[in-house]
Amino acid sequence: MHIDLDIYSPVHQIKAQLFDERGLSVFIKRDDLIHPIISGNKWRKLKYLLKKARAESKTHLVTFGGAFSNHLLATAGAAALFGFKATGFVRGDAIDNDMLFMCRLHGMNLIFVDRDSYRDKPALFNKHFADDDYAFFIDEGGASPEAARGCSELVDELAENYDHIFCACGTGTMAAGIINGLQNHHSHTKMHGVPVLKGGDFLRKDIDNLLLNNCEYHLHTGYHFGGYGKTTPELIAFIKNFVAQTGILIDPVYTGKMLYAIYDMAANDQFKPGSKILAIHSGGIWGLLGMKNKFD
Ligand SMILES: *Cc1c(COP(=O)(O)O)cnc(C)c1O
Repeated sequence: MHIDLDIYSPVHQIKAQLFDERGLSVFIKRDDLIHPIISGNKWRKLKYLLKKARAESKTHLVTFGGAFSNHLLATAGAAALFGFKATGFVRGDAIDNDMLFMCRLHGMNLIFVDRDSYRDKPALFNKHFADDDYAFFIDEGGASPEAARGCSELVDELAENYDHIFCACGTGTMAAGIINGLQNHHSHTKMHGVPVLKGGDFLRKDIDNLLLNNCEYHLHTGYHFGGYGKTTPELIAFIKNFVAQTGILIDPVYTGKMLYAIYDMAANDQFKPGSKILAIHSGGIWGLLGMKNKFD
């Protein structure tokens, strides 16, 4: 099967009294609607990797993730859809959860590895698949220049100009791709990344490495809520409110933190009145399944 999806990612306005009071128009690009399983930015990040695998006649995708990894599930879904075998190395003790159930349901073979072995991914690949001529290595989260290229295409789809674009950052690959896309369009839009990990300044180096041209962008490192996968009661309360007010599902790991940042910055008058702001909904709502207990 030809490796492509028809992209359905409309832009919706988010109405809120806060934004009206501050004279802001805020929109959200619904990359979560691209595909229910190959969700959001994970499709954009996989697209050129899968095309490369196909071009090299590889038929077996091998990748890596934690037990609640959106990337593992997206890879499992894409493998099933496009006719690849898939193996996922999962960090930590053998367990079962809703996310891994979904990976298995899509035919992914799971191999659990301890945290130490997990660190050296090329070594794991070689240990298990050195003899498999059809195996194709995909790094954790899909991080690669191909992934940044896929994400840059998001900008080609925008019908309007925005003063600010916001996205959540894990590895920073999506942010780098969007910055490259904005540069291709000679856009003056300011790019903002919201790292979901603690101490997110380290991402600057990784993002810069993927940029086609040096340029300025903003990282808001104060919205990690304790670190990757961590939450606070404020964040959970914000998410509950947002979902109930807008009908748009967001998760506490990525998009919840990014949207919290926009609301918080708006409340603190960090945008000029009249500004147009676009948030990227990068998908990942299955991540909610690992966080149910936080919503009690
Ligand atoms: C993986 C993921 C991200 C992080 O993307 P990076 O390219 O690693 O920065 C953001 N949002 C969601 C929903 C994700 O699943």
